[in-house]
Amino acid sequence: PSSKREGFPSPPSTSWSDIGALHGVRQELHMAIVQPIRRPEVFKRLGISAPRGVLLWGPPGNGKTLLARAVASEGRAGFIAVKGPELLNKYVGESERSVRAVFARARASSPCVIFFDEIDALVPRRSDKLSEASTNIVNTLLAELDGLSQRKAIYVIGATNRPDMIDPALLRPGRFDKLVYVDLPKSDERVEIGRTVVQREKVPVRGGLDGEDWKAVEMLLAADQSDGMSGADITALITEAASTALRYALGEAMQNGDQELHGPSTEQSLREQAEAE
Ligand code: ATP
Repeated sequence: PSSKREGFPSPPSTSWSDIGALHGVRQELHMAIVQPIRRPEVFKRLGISAPRGVLLWGPPGNGKTLLARAVASEGRAGFIAVKGPELLNKYVGESERSVRAVFARARASSPCVIFFDEIDALVPRRSDKLSEASTNIVNTLLAELDGLSQRKAIYVIGATNRPDMIDPALLRPGRFDKLVYVDLPKSDERVEIGRTVVQREKVPVRGGLDGEDWKAVEMLLAADQSDGMSGADITALITEAASTALRYALGEAMQNGDQELHGPSTEQSLREQAEAE
């Protein structure tokens, strides 16, 4: 009940079923974080220590944030999300205080998952002439990671599109020692993500996922021309298509019900009607 109190991070609403494809990545995160949170005694008995931090890396829009939220939710753990660039834009000394505050909050409500999105902004390579402020943030973060006790169920997930831009000190054992690549989806994975989005967002599809409308979308997603589409692109395509279809349907309804209304979709359906005749 204490986790419900204000200020305590509660588990997010995202679950594995909100994510399409990425089965290998999910399995890895399940073993690395969800299971250690759920069954700490098993890991202790077998003498396996879970990785302290996991770094998700790969091209933008392919579910890194979604995965981090689902991991916390599946582990019934609190979730604290921090965007790297937001932490940076603070007054001198305030960024370090914020980093320390994040870990303090997590310690007060373990099990907890801390998610650092765009972590490259926070801990860039120190060789690239860093400002004093940045160096202080890197050192604070490293100190907090090193100070985490194995007994406290606090897991840190970082996300980046550019792992080469991160301070290598962060990748040493006991820190972000597990790297997981989150790739662009392949043909069949795009279709799977599409189905997941339709179900998750309750997108109205005429005839459902067995109907002709969905078959057309499925063909488009599977086609070679769709290579390079990210999960975010697929989500945008489907929700956009749904709102276009909805506008179209509304246009038809207006045309039948009220002759005075002439939206663009009404015009379109009139034109099509004329063509059909
Ligand atoms: P960025 O690097 O830009 O932060 P990201 O990898 O963290 O991107 P998310 O924010 O998790 O990507 O994904 C963006 C949106 O794309 C999600 O809200 C979701 O709607 C959709 N999405 C991406 N990948 C998937 C997927 N595998 N299944 C379902 N939806 C997905």
